[in-house]
Amino acid sequence: MDFTPDSSLVAFRQAVRRFLDEDVPADLKGLRRATRSPREQVMRWQKILNQRGWGAPYWAKEHGGTGWTVPQILAFDDECSAAGTPTQDGFVHKLLGPVLNAFATPEQKAQHMPAIFEGERLWCQGFSEPGSGSDLASLRTRAVRDGDHYVVNGQKTWTSYAHHADWIFLLVRTDTDVKKQAGISFLLVDMNTPGITVRPIRSIDDAHHLNETFFDNVRVPVENLIGVEGQGWSITKFLLNNEHATTADLPELKRYMRELKLFASTLQADGQRLCERPVFALKLARLEAELQALEMLVQRVARLEQEHRPESHTLGSMLKIRATEFQQRITEAQVEALGDYGAIAYPHPHEPNLQQGYPLQALATGIANEMFFRRASTIYGGTSEVQRGIIAKLLFQL
Ligand SMILES: Cc1cc2nc3c(=O)[nH]c(=O)nc-3n(C[C@H](O)[C@H](O)[C@H](O)COP(=O)(O)OP(=O)(O)OC[C@H]3O[C@@H](n4cnc5c(N)ncnc54)[C@H](O)[C@@H]3O)c2cc1C
Repeated sequence: MDFTPDSSLVAFRQAVRRFLDEDVPADLKGLRRATRSPREQVMRWQKILNQRGWGAPYWAKEHGGTGWTVPQILAFDDECSAAGTPTQDGFVHKLLGPVLNAFATPEQKAQHMPAIFEGERLWCQGFSEPGSGSDLASLRTRAVRDGDHYVVNGQKTWTSYAHHADWIFLLVRTDTDVKKQAGISFLLVDMNTPGITVRPIRSIDDAHHLNETFFDNVRVPVENLIGVEGQGWSITKFLLNNEHATTADLPELKRYMRELKLFASTLQADGQRLCERPVFALKLARLEAELQALEMLVQRVARLEQEHRPESHTLGSMLKIRATEFQQRITEAQVEALGDYGAIAYPHPHEPNLQQGYPLQALATGIANEMFFRRASTIYGGTSEVQRGIIAKLLFQL
């Protein structure tokens, strides 16, 4: 097989690089981490992209997107990650956006799309509940119709970035007398509506991105229902099918590899550079080969998803398992490469000066946090066990 990119893709990549060099302020570069960038950075970055006409890089032209091909999207993501630009709001660009494009009314699009393109409204995803994660259809947050409103009561959990979000897309139970999947509806809710409480959950990486979100008699206008009442489950399946290539986080995997190579060629153990030590060199080579295989799988899955081909589900589940296990192994290898500094580079809130003066300090700071954060990658976006169940069912008819 010939993996040389064609000349138009090379030109596209150069155009993206030029834009990043010339049009993106220096203080919006070199920032990339596994978790989402702070709210102000996400908003500024979105405005800059929109001014360039790239406000929706993943969407078709008919929806105001760039209409880029899969290789172009991957090249764009790759270049942005290498430059260290902030992240976009993935919830809206990769999950909710396609849903709005497919199911929202013209009025709903008019209400939300300008703010999405302009970066003036950030979103969060309100699906999981205590007791309803993998078995999402068992969710219990209730929405009862009262005139022109739904009255919502219940609790969501693991709501990433709810404390930074202006709006939430929410799964609610609107009917308890039908099969559980048939009683679910999809609502858009303004986070400033009275009755919503967001409480932080601090995670193992010593950060606050997760929350519990409580709904206490929250009145939501009926015009915020997406699709029709009871259609929430099929909308959710549509939304989750767009998630596979995303959860692989390929640009970040490449970043981890670049960093690991730098560590291996700079740091020494017993007077020998890590890359010259056979055991570490073998580990590095294996990770590199796996990363290349993953890149091919990402391209394949992304193309199948774009063409709405059914094989994307099985391959997407395989990709989710392989990519997230890789995320865990490569970040562990990074911490290992840093040796004693691996643990020290983990910022200690009470001793901020602890990290001063160690080798590769700027690069190494936060590496251990990422390794801890990645422990969750085999859980969010559908656990590995659930993905294996999907593969067993779809591929082997078990
Ligand atoms: C960092 C992070 C961010 C998240 N962000 C969000 C968010 O923004 N919005 C949101 O709605 N949710 C979010 N989630 C929730 C996430 O989607 C759920 O954690 C996930 O779906 C698993 O559900 P659960 O935690 O309830 O575990 P459970 O479903 O209770 O699973 C517990 C264990 O049982 C196993 N298991 C469950 N069912 C099966 C089965 N059928 N076969 C085999 N094994 C099974 C699981 O693999 C797991 O090991 C986030 C989670 C994390 C960790």
